[in-house]
Amino acid sequence: MASKKGVRLIITLECTECRSNNNKRTPGVSRYTTTKNRRNTTARLELKKFCPNCNRHTVHKEIK
Ligand SMILES: [Zn+2]
Repeated sequence: MASKKGVRLIITLECTECRSNNNKRTPGVSRYTTTKNRRNTTARLELKKFCPNCNRHTVHKEIK
């Protein structure tokens, strides 16, 4: 099964806690890049990842 491009998408997951935490001036938002299969996953991905800014595991959501 040869892999053709266009099926696996590279997406970015961003920490939702960092984004809603605007009162705390953080230098950046924790981001992870991963891939997903567009055919299997049409909805936005949500994964629990370790965020170095929040210093704990938080929900990371897919962003554009
Ligand atoms: Zn965070």
